[in-house]
Amino acid sequence: MKSVVKIPLQVTPEQATILDSQSKNANWLYNKLLEQANALRKQYRETQDKQVGLTLYSERGLRNLIPGLKGPHPFLKAVYSSVLKNAALRLSKAIRDYQDGKHGRRANVVNWPKFRAWKRKWFSLQYDEPWKGYALSGRTLTLSLGQDVSGKQLSLALTLSEALPPWVNHEHIRQCRIVKEGHLYSVVFSVERRLPMGLPLRPDKNFAYAVGTDGQASEIHNPYFLKTLEKRIDQLKAKRDQCQKKSRLITRPDGSQFWLPSHRWVMLNAHLQDLYRRRREQTKQFLYTVANRFYHDYDVVGIGDYVPHGGGITKKMRRAMNNQSLNRRFKHVLAWVALRSGKQYLEWEEGGSTRTCHDCGFVVQGGIPPEIREWDCPAEDCTSHHIRDENAARNGLTRTLKALGLPCSGRREVSSRRALRFNGLGLTIRGPGTGSETGTNRLEIKSEP
Ligand SMILES: [Zn+2]
Repeated sequence: MKSVVKIPLQVTPEQATILDSQSKNANWLYNKLLEQANALRKQYRETQDKQVGLTLYSERGLRNLIPGLKGPHPFLKAVYSSVLKNAALRLSKAIRDYQDGKHGRRANVVNWPKFRAWKRKWFSLQYDEPWKGYALSGRTLTLSLGQDVSGKQLSLALTLSEALPPWVNHEHIRQCRIVKEGHLYSVVFSVERRLPMGLPLRPDKNFAYAVGTDGQASEIHNPYFLKTLEKRIDQLKAKRDQCQKKSRLITRPDGSQFWLPSHRWVMLNAHLQDLYRRRREQTKQFLYTVANRFYHDYDVVGIGDYVPHGGGITKKMRRAMNNQSLNRRFKHVLAWVALRSGKQYLEWEEGGSTRTCHDCGFVVQGGIPPEIREWDCPAEDCTSHHIRDENAARNGLTRTLKALGLPCSGRREVSSRRALRFNGLGLTIRGPGTGSETGTNRLEIKSEP
């Protein structure tokens, strides 16, 4: 799982001057290498010299020109090596993108790179190896710069305006980039993180799947506690119906007739009605507990607007229908809890949300069959592996934010997953961020008004 964490930096005027000069030098190098690349391109057209071609078109060809430039341009030494290297790699990438476009290896055509005006766009400082050239201690980020004239290694200590989010450990950080937008300097960490797959994710068994703006994915299990109850209801109903045979046909004095149930039937029926009542109560508790949990954690809850319909005949289909009406009831409960707590409920257009890759926008033609619970995006250049419902929920989150008119550029990432399971008494939450890995959090049921 790849994502980025962007944190603004607190920068003094002196530090700003240093960062700007680093950026200017890297920008200068980019333009200098482009100048050389233009010359090489001309030369290659004329001579078809293989060595020239390699320098110009290979991934690292231009990078190898850097050491030769440091002699005549000693100010380059004041910039950290991987920042310089990155300027060369960026140019090589732009050239190869141009080549790929020209030869039809990519969908769009890309122009040959242009000289970059530093004043128009600040050249970002990229440290592209984990913890090489930068260190983080608390909120202090120390960047290695190059060397001064006497060969002394220089560094710069900057302060992050806030600490790393708790879900990011140092070993998750792969790269570090300093950017400037307007007058604001920020550090952008590339984070690569394996999701905790240890917890039993059973997306095929879930009642609902949610993704929050905080990166928290919540899988809500089907109300299993109802299963036992359902079984007892079935058994009891069969028993009661058997007793129907023992009803006696009574003729009233006026000649009208009715069936008098046996004592046993009356007893079993009373028991059955009791179980029905309990099922209603527990279902209600389940829906309210989940809704209360979500409105405790979030201000807005959006849910897909899909309305299931169907006429079931078989037991399996009837069960599925039961779930559908549960879905409908859940919507009502969410809307009510939102109203009561002064929060917001909305429904988002669900069409295409499952089949659309959240990461690249690729749409799987014909949709994804319901039995496929996880899939790899088939788009070229996209390596995303999706959990079916999580991908749909991420699309839903984007649509919800759009509906609210909130800025939501780009992707919504999932940083941790939890499973919510209602056991008839309370909600059990398993997953990271809920205490110890093995421990469980129990929540009190809030009684509905
Ligand atoms: Zn994709």
